[in-house]
Amino acid sequence: MSKNTPITVAYGDGIGPEIMDATLRIIQAAGARIDIETIEIGEKVYMRGESSGIEQSSWDSLRRTKVFLKAPITTPQGGGFKSLNVTTRKTLGLYANIRPCVSYPPYVETKHPNMDVVIVRENEEDLYAGIEHRQTEQVYQCLKLISRPGTEKIVRYAFEYAEQNNRKKVTCFTKDNIMKFTDGLFHKIFDEIGAEYPNIEKEHWIVDIGAAKLADTPEVFDVIVMPNLYGDILSDVAAQIAGSVGLAGSANIGDHGAMFEAIHGSAPRRAGQNMANPSGLLLGAVMMLVHIDQPDIATKVHNAWLKTLEDGIHTYDIFNEGLSIEKVGTREFADAVIARVGQQPQKLKPVSYKTGDVKKFRQQEIRKIEVDKQLVGVDVFLDWSAGSAEELGNKLGNMNLKNAFLYMISNRGVKVWPNGAPETFCTDHWRCRFKSKTKVGDPISHDDILEILQTFRNMGMDFIKTEGLYSFDGVKGYTEAQGQ
Ligand code: NAD
Repeated sequence: MSKNTPITVAYGDGIGPEIMDATLRIIQAAGARIDIETIEIGEKVYMRGESSGIEQSSWDSLRRTKVFLKAPITTPQGGGFKSLNVTTRKTLGLYANIRPCVSYPPYVETKHPNMDVVIVRENEEDLYAGIEHRQTEQVYQCLKLISRPGTEKIVRYAFEYAEQNNRKKVTCFTKDNIMKFTDGLFHKIFDEIGAEYPNIEKEHWIVDIGAAKLADTPEVFDVIVMPNLYGDILSDVAAQIAGSVGLAGSANIGDHGAMFEAIHGSAPRRAGQNMANPSGLLLGAVMMLVHIDQPDIATKVHNAWLKTLEDGIHTYDIFNEGLSIEKVGTREFADAVIARVGQQPQKLKPVSYKTGDVKKFRQQEIRKIEVDKQLVGVDVFLDWSAGSAEELGNKLGNMNLKNAFLYMISNRGVKVWPNGAPETFCTDHWRCRFKSKTKVGDPISHDDILEILQTFRNMGMDFIKTEGLYSFDGVKGYTEAQGQ
């Protein structure tokens, strides 16, 4: 008998304590070899004035155990409270979020009886970097960051996961027809890394039609890898159409730790009523057991759970007159699973996890790329509401700079000067693009940028931010404005 693995457990908010209690009872009844360290997170911690929702001492436990089983928590709206889920994922570097969405016909009602999709969601980047600013009276922004190393890690994870789990196809969803640099990079890396996996089928869909297909014919998908936001939204859709959001578990994996949870939230309206379905968290715990190298226990728990579903013992969210046999509460559902530990499902396909399932992943090697980077211009954003685009262009057109000149002005991404369309609606947020006077595309210097800003200052213009325009090995590292 191997020795116990320490894990950190948080009971969370809303339905959290009930489903955590059920989950721990089941896995312990199945013989999980774990030592539990409990930490407090969520609403109570937020209310004590800790805006991150987690106390410093709890990080010590997480750093020690490196394995976190977490019930859902309630993030108070507004008021500067940061999402603890996002903070935990990012602080611990849990870059991969794995969300299997499986249907269980005929025991759980679904329009998609052959659904078995695993969503691999990038977990640290994209619009979830949480870098948001209000820049003018009218305009707010959220920065979308996609990095090469971050994308390489998640895409490689998706292919390694597929290989490891005998999956046949990896699909990528992006919106690279619009976001050519950020989503474009994600798609490009998918193609590059995918080429290293000749035995796995690969395909890419634009996320809008991909999402429509996923909702309509999920059985044609196998593993789907996507940037953070699309993955967040579409894994809820996938779980719900498989049967219920209450059924899906989720693993957050990184190089220095892992967190396991349900994909749903704290469902406060159902709290304290012994109603919630503990299955999502339980399946999260099953992934945890595989991760801590207890595949025997994971297999026992998962099969006992499948047998319970098959026997028609269902919580309210999946209860269906005619299909279900008995409507039970959270506690009774857990008791029913415990009573079936050691049994196999007869109709649903039993699972069988193997030792080392998650250990064979190829080392994540981040490729180093040498590029020649040159500053060739600058976008300076202004907060200005004293007139039209034409008036702004005329005002700035004769700034008389040493090496740079005003190349164009755009508003919300559309070119409005020179030769703007009179119909274009303009806000108080203007992007003024400066390039080299000698020849467009020639380098400019930081001194040129300082001269532009100094000139704006002297004119009394409020510059709210600058973005350098760079070329990389002679290739533009920025997009043109719409209408250019
Ligand atoms: P939710 O997932 O908590 O609940 C939505 C609805 O789904 C519920 O009203 C309920 O009908 C159903 N449902 C969810 N889980 C269920 C279960 N286990 N059994 C039966 N029915 C279930 O989503 P929400 O209402 O948008 O969010 C509530 C709170 O949860 C918010 O504060 C949100 O920030 C938080 N949240 C936390 C996490 C997390 O901790 N990982 C994830 C999502 C949302």
